[in-house]
Amino acid sequence: MSGVHPGSVVDLHTHSLCSDGRDAPGDVVRAAAAAGVDVMALTDHDVVAGWAEADRAGREHGVCVVPGIEVSCSWRGISVHLLAYLPDPTDVALLGELEASRSSRETRLRRMVDLIAADGYPVSYEEVLELAGEGATLGRPHVADVLVRNGVFAVRDEAFARVLASDGPYYVSHYAPDPVRATELVVAAGGVAVIAHPFAGARGRVVDDAVVERMADAGLAGLEVDHRDHGPGEREHAGRLSGRLGLLRTGSSDYHGSGKPNRLGENTTAPEVLDRILAAGSGSALLGAPPRPR
Ligand code: AMP
Ligand code: ZN
Ligand code: FE
Ligand code: FE
Repeated sequence: MSGVHPGSVVDLHTHSLCSDGRDAPGDVVRAAAAAGVDVMALTDHDVVAGWAEADRAGREHGVCVVPGIEVSCSWRGISVHLLAYLPDPTDVALLGELEASRSSRETRLRRMVDLIAADGYPVSYEEVLELAGEGATLGRPHVADVLVRNGVFAVRDEAFARVLASDGPYYVSHYAPDPVRATELVVAAGGVAVIAHPFAGARGRVVDDAVVERMADAGLAGLEVDHRDHGPGEREHAGRLSGRLGLLRTGSSDYHGSGKPNRLGENTTAPEVLDRILAAGSGSALLGAPPRPR
């Protein structure tokens, strides 16, 4: 598949209620159409559950939806996020790792919530589960949302700064595959692997260039350079690294609905880069409307 219209607005990183976004998958697609986005990827953390609904909404609203996953990875305790576009959603090896992460996220979040509650904050694991909803990939943002709902903090960001930070007293890590292995799995499943916001230092420690280089050797196709959590220096570094390693340069919003200030289409990917991604992905078909012809 190729021939994305040269003027298309392309946003390849969004989240729905299937993970820690606040809109249903169809509503993310509707919001994308309203924001003037022509092509979007739905990339919930460690899950493909939103794809079917996004497909229906994409057809209805004329938005081309690229099926994706944001795969949680861990390199020596450092969190790495790997975007996987067009992977086979039935690939047993990839699904196995996603399931292992998702189930470890449950035990980990229960431990974090118990520690936070033991310090007197009004939050319980049951409330977190209820807020997240059946089947959602659980994450710290759900704990943040309960704390906000219970009046402790005004917004998610504040909850992260005060109690949920990865270097804070309540942090518990979860199982996740190493990013080199995850890259191999995504490629083996016919997907296109793009490392997400690799130098977003405000979230915690980040990997050094050597890890990205090893991922490139394992088949990494691209690097998300233009992302709100990259400052000017980080974009320059990321841009140079992608050039040196021959990686595609992407940009995206990392939209989470009202849970974060990120606006759909605030960072975008060049249509010719999308062409390359669509040509390389063989694991699944596009969802929703096909890209507009030239
Ligand atoms: P988890 O996967 O449970 O460790 O939570 C990580 C998720 O929390 C990331 O994918 C971000 O969407 C979100 N996050 C991380 N740091 C922050 C922050 N400082 N403020 C708001 N959201 C954050
Ligand atoms: Zn998220
Ligand atoms: Fe991420
Ligand atoms: Fe994300």
